[in-house]
Amino acid sequence: MSSYPPSKNVRQLSSSKAFPWESSLQYLKGVGPNRAFLLGKLGLHILEDLLYYIPFRYEDRSQIKKIAHLKAGGGGIETVFGEIIGISLSETRHRRMKIVDAALSDGSAVIHAKWFNQAYLKDLIKKGSKLMLSGKIKANYYGSHALEMENPQFEKVDGDETQIHMNRIVPVYHETKGFTSRQIRVLIKQVLDKHADHLPEMFPKELINEHKLLSLSEAIVQIHFPQNGTDLSQLNQGKSAAHRRLVFDELFLLEIGLALRKKGRTEKLPGIAFNVSDSLLKPMKKRIPFQLTDAQERVFSDIQKDMALPYPMNRLLQGDVGCGKTIVALMTILIAIENGYQTALMAPTEILAEQHYFSLKEHLEALGKSVYLLTSDMKKRMKNETLEAVLSGQSHLLIGTHALIDGSVQFQRLGLVVVDEQHKFGVLQRAKLAEKGLRPDILIMTATPIPRTLALTLYGDLNISVIDELPPGRAPVLTQLYYGKRRAAAYQKVEKTIAAGRQAFIVYPLVEASEKLDLKAAIEMFAHFQKEVFPDRRIGLLHGRLKREEKETIMRDFKMGKIDLLVATTVVEVGIDIPNATMMVIEHAERFGLSQLHQLRGRVGRGEDQSHCLMIAEFPISKEGKRRLKAMLESTDGFKIAEEDLSIRGPGEFFGTRQSGIPELAVANLIRDAALLETARQEAFSWVADHPGLDDTVSRAIRACLERKWKGKLEWLTTA
Ligand code: ADP
Ligand code: MG
Repeated sequence: MSSYPPSKNVRQLSSSKAFPWESSLQYLKGVGPNRAFLLGKLGLHILEDLLYYIPFRYEDRSQIKKIAHLKAGGGGIETVFGEIIGISLSETRHRRMKIVDAALSDGSAVIHAKWFNQAYLKDLIKKGSKLMLSGKIKANYYGSHALEMENPQFEKVDGDETQIHMNRIVPVYHETKGFTSRQIRVLIKQVLDKHADHLPEMFPKELINEHKLLSLSEAIVQIHFPQNGTDLSQLNQGKSAAHRRLVFDELFLLEIGLALRKKGRTEKLPGIAFNVSDSLLKPMKKRIPFQLTDAQERVFSDIQKDMALPYPMNRLLQGDVGCGKTIVALMTILIAIENGYQTALMAPTEILAEQHYFSLKEHLEALGKSVYLLTSDMKKRMKNETLEAVLSGQSHLLIGTHALIDGSVQFQRLGLVVVDEQHKFGVLQRAKLAEKGLRPDILIMTATPIPRTLALTLYGDLNISVIDELPPGRAPVLTQLYYGKRRAAAYQKVEKTIAAGRQAFIVYPLVEASEKLDLKAAIEMFAHFQKEVFPDRRIGLLHGRLKREEKETIMRDFKMGKIDLLVATTVVEVGIDIPNATMMVIEHAERFGLSQLHQLRGRVGRGEDQSHCLMIAEFPISKEGKRRLKAMLESTDGFKIAEEDLSIRGPGEFFGTRQSGIPELAVANLIRDAALLETARQEAFSWVADHPGLDDTVSRAIRACLERKWKGKLEWLTTA
């Protein structure tokens, strides 16, 4: 039983059971089953959903102007309220545009609202309707004295409802067919009038005081109906005090969930306690021609500590492209093998899996250990051989693409799973591979440096290690931008690089929608390069449609220096490691995403010679495209690039919500609320640590809330 002392909170909380958070919306006055169905389309089912349905913007209607006081051309948005005294529909002779013209009087004067090509408004707005209009004020085009608003926002406001929709800052909600923002506003007001005073507080007072949070009921009231005088831009940016409290709630709950998951995994489920010795490590270290960097040593010692513990390691290894994660993975793999376990390494592309296969095989076979490769397009006979070796325990390391997840792959004793370039996989794929072992240790590696805030949310239950230094002697890649017409100058640089005995990539974008066309472009360019631009050079072409053996041959030839210039699609984006390649040319650089550009640039700069990245851009370039190119020119720091990418694209797109398992947040925004996320995480993790049973009253309320809010949305929360 918990030792949490009963406090004032207990009284507060005892009403929490009484509050009907889960009561169905259909029982609200004026809703019923049909309209409840419509609300369901907005994701609103229970009372709690409705109260947490956050306005997406606010309008300041606290200042209703008298029409007589308005002047044309001020440029600002003005709001007036009055009665429709006439409405007409006309059609211009020129271009046959339909115009609805409504005259509105507030007793002081008349203003005309004009809506273009929205003829249906003629039937919606009736003479005698009370209407609120907001928009910019113009003088009548034909020089009469009447004032006009073109396509103003309008809202019908009847009788006693003026208290809800006017004379205040009003919330505007996303609508659905059959439910307007205005109707939602009425509904929420009705619920708040009844319940606002006794919404139960979830958090203990200390937490609220320490972080200067509004009480829950105050926050919910204020987020829907802010006090007059509240800063409108703060509200519209989601930065008001009310937003802050609800954001905190959401992130705190999320982090409680993550803390529980982490705790459940580490404490309840025993894993493998590896014996850490260096009987394989030592000879391996002798084989590599360099010293590990301090960062590599530090990260590996984190890993060793994890492995020695009697429960599963779950560690994320972050490090910019080229920092040397592979060698750390190899050392980790060796410890597991030394302990008599099998290991698996999953990579996102076949090319990368093959590269790992060839480089790790060299090391492992020298130590008398066996390595197998599994990809989906392998010949059946080879595949079966591999599957058998894995099942019998003969395979020490199995390397492959997501083919490893397939049901046919069964291990005898899987003790370690390494996932390379994690950002290319979903959380569930990672979990599926782990399920093939007996709670194996898991090491996840990513070269897409994830901004800390995102890492905390995406991987909030993992431990994180960062390799924050590159091997010595690496000069940052020099990046330059060329516009299409100066392409020849870029090619001259390529020629110079090759003449100096180095190798080069030229990468073409491959847009999924027109894969064939782009491929055609790459193939044609290849011929063009061979015939006209670099007639004396050995050129290879690499793209995703090639057969496995063809790809392998080309990569091997490039690696061995038999190819000077590799013309490729983005299949070379991740992981490829060819230190003698020092030139990366990116065609149509304006089309690539920022992280992708950074990944591509990471294919060079892997040796000691100065490397170059030439981005060739074609007009037109979108605003975001310009931002991306600029970021590439300004920084080679993967973390800075990732922050910028996140701010250009937003978290949803940054990772692709569905694929990455990043939860949909209703109020919080991971960029805007980064600081609050850190706080919420600290509080949540120490809460879980301080309340081991989580069965004290406050914890129980928190848990109930967690279950309600994330029910069904957090499949990853229950995934080991
Ligand atoms: P990434 O972290 O992007 O996966 P890799 O593991 O492919 O990077 O390593 C990039 C290159 O750096 C490889 O050629 C590797 O052999 C080399 N490398 C790794 N660690 C060191 C080191 N400590 N000193 C010098 N070179 C290193
Ligand atoms: Mg790598």
